[in-house]
Amino acid sequence: MPIKTLAPRLRAADLRTAKPPAYTWATRKATEANQEFYQTPEWKALRTRLTRERGKRCEDCGRTGTRIYCDHVVELRDGGAGLDPSNIHLRCGSCHVKKTADARARRLGLR
Ligand SMILES: [Zn+2]
Repeated sequence: MPIKTLAPRLRAADLRTAKPPAYTWATRKATEANQEFYQTPEWKALRTRLTRERGKRCEDCGRTGTRIYCDHVVELRDGGAGLDPSNIHLRCGSCHVKKTADARARRLGLR
């Protein structure tokens, strides 16, 4: 005799409460503009200068001997000044990823 089961009374909950905004044309244009910025001679010169002046050291955790990124404190997509040294922080890979994720979460209203 087969075992009878009851149909589930509750549907599975959708735990994905925070969905990213739609990828729009405006988003795409902004992203492309930022990619172009990082190829300009002005940006490359500033990056070289700041790394030489401040040293190849993460300004968050102090790490050395690793790749150091010139990271915008206020990101370009949030209206930050691209070539203002006071808007640039030298960070190691893990501090850069952490800060970028924080900025993204804030932009999406999650923090
Ligand atoms: Zn670091």
